[in-house]
Amino acid sequence: MKTTIQTWTPDAWRSLPAAQQPVYRDDAAVEAVLAELRELPPLVVPEEVDHLHALLAEAAEGRRFLLQGGDCAEAFADCRGSIIQNKLRVLLQMSVLITHGGRTGVIHLGRIAGQYAKPRSGDTERIDGKEVPVYRGDIINGLDPSQREPDPRRLLEAYHRAAATLNHLRALVDGGFADLHHPEHWDLSWSREDAGHYLETLDQVRNSLAFVQRLGGLPEHLRTGELFTSHEALHLPFETAMTRFVPESGRHYNLGAHFLWIGERTRQLEGAHLEYIRGLANPIGLKVGASMTPESLRKVLAKLDPGRRPGRLTLITRFGAGRAEAALPGLIEAARSEGHPVLWSCDPMHGNGRTAAGGLKTRAFGDILQELQEVAALHRACGSRMGAVHFELTGEPVTECTGGVEGLDEAGLQRAYRSGCDPRLNRSQSLEMAFLIAQMIR
Ligand code: PEP
Ligand code: MN
Repeated sequence: MKTTIQTWTPDAWRSLPAAQQPVYRDDAAVEAVLAELRELPPLVVPEEVDHLHALLAEAAEGRRFLLQGGDCAEAFADCRGSIIQNKLRVLLQMSVLITHGGRTGVIHLGRIAGQYAKPRSGDTERIDGKEVPVYRGDIINGLDPSQREPDPRRLLEAYHRAAATLNHLRALVDGGFADLHHPEHWDLSWSREDAGHYLETLDQVRNSLAFVQRLGGLPEHLRTGELFTSHEALHLPFETAMTRFVPESGRHYNLGAHFLWIGERTRQLEGAHLEYIRGLANPIGLKVGASMTPESLRKVLAKLDPGRRPGRLTLITRFGAGRAEAALPGLIEAARSEGHPVLWSCDPMHGNGRTAAGGLKTRAFGDILQELQEVAALHRACGSRMGAVHFELTGEPVTECTGGVEGLDEAGLQRAYRSGCDPRLNRSQSLEMAFLIAQMIR
């Protein structure tokens, strides 16, 4: 049965095919956990969600820039003060560099406090000669091959870890950690030689921050980096349990995060995921890969943004270096001709995966940069704007992507490869990327 927005309910998706859902052994145990989740307090409030919506509308109109980033998959074990703090710090540092270079305010959106579910290309994999179910993210099963059976108790654990993460983020922001002028935030830990052509920019940024400081500091909304949360809306029973009716607005909000997106593998036009997300009052995102045609984008847009509201929908393109030119202009034209004021984001990570000689999944800094540059240029040529970027990154000194000022090569990857899923930019690579983005959008 086809539902309209009038007949939409948080459960309407259940009659449609849902890709990438775990199969649990004990349905009653899942139901008990979901019932508990439905009664637990929301993690965010509608006012914050509406505020983000308004900021994203400004970004869609060219007056702000959106920076979205964080782990591919947050690990429960990484719910730790220092790791959360380092991730917030790197996002804010990137934001200052982009603000300085692009002369535009930046919205900070973490892939954080709930990014626990992963779509996978197969159901099983071979480990040490044994066929085991794939890892689907800590909300479903464990990375260790002995923990691959989906466990419903993990749904509650995900809620509590997301709550603890968000609580710490809020405390850091309130407590002044997010104040951008602290010199310790600006220790790049690069050699002077490495920092070479970035040092001048960095000095300019430091001087600007010091100048503003002497004038009496930044206004509140600039002083502290406001941080919003996002994750992929993949596990539909969990997301439905976090969906609440808000009588004041007469709408349903997912109050497990400020922003939710649908991934490349679950965006079937008549599938459960689009049906679920279309009824939410939250601002939403959609990953768009090379297989999306202008014709199908038109249909998706009619479904997700019938009101043509700026800020409602962020299209996150992820083509791979060298592949945007064939796909992007037609999609830009489709959105424009249908009158959808979407915010265009570039995810230069997910089309650029490769397997290193040693078997590790990696991505090259040069490919990531190339896709960003190509996408920014194509938007400009089409009279559009790349108003957002989407990264997988961490504040930790991991060795998962190759390249960058520290010259990490494939042989160095195993030194500190920690991701259970896709390779992330480390802190140094993320900052270098921000310097380059700042130049790109100037
Ligand atoms: C992701 O963002 O981690 C992801 C799986 O991306 P995509 O849906 O674009 O493949
Ligand atoms: Mn990923």
